Amino acid sequence: MSELPKLSTRSLAPPALGARPSRGETEQAVRTLLLWAGDDPTREGLRETPARVARAFEDWFAGYAMDPEEYLSRTFEEVEGYDDMVVLRDIRFESHCEHHLAPIIGRVHVGYLPTNRVVGISKLARVVEAYAKRLQVQEKMNAQIARCIQKVLEPKGVAVVIQAEHQCMTTRGVHKPGVSMVTSTMLGDFRKNPLTRREFLSVIGNPASSAGD
Ligand SMILES: [Zn+2]
Repeated sequence: MSELPKLSTRSLAPPALGARPSRGETEQAVRTLLLWAGDDPTREGLRETPARVARAFEDWFAGYAMDPEEYLSRTFEEVEGYDDMVVLRDIRFESHCEHHLAPIIGRVHVGYLPTNRVVGISKLARVVEAYAKRLQVQEKMNAQIARCIQKVLEPKGVAVVIQAEHQCMTTRGVHKPGVSMVTSTMLGDFRKNPLTRREFLSVIGNPASSAGD
């Protein structure tokens, strides 16, 4: 039995949960989608498309191989007692909705109130990237980013606001171009203290900052 080639055992059984298909299987699946679209996968212009799509998936979904908590593990403690708000705004991201595989493109604004340690600002952008480059729902991604920062940095509070356009909404279905969805997660002081929350919203230039006064 040991000489049984690996490939044939795999092709007999469905892949185990979490197992990845081979590149060949992935390219075959893209050919099926091209046929489903109504085109001919063997024509010149489409011949390399399955391989390109497989490579594009490696980019778009690179987040599964990233560990966002790891990015925040290196912190700086010499901040001369700085304990005011740290805000990183307009972090552009590209993601894909888990319902249609359609792009979600937008910006994330992150704020936190450090206790005695801060993190390099590029690391916050890396956390956003790690969650964005997965199949997502905006609300879930919002909560994941906030909880990750809360868990690793243990600040007095975390605020995350995401504004994004969902191409499954703008290019199909209800066809509403220009509509963006805004979600927010407020933890700790940002949730408890309306002044802190308002300060954050005004720093990120959110027109919703005066709402609810
Ligand atoms: Zn969608």
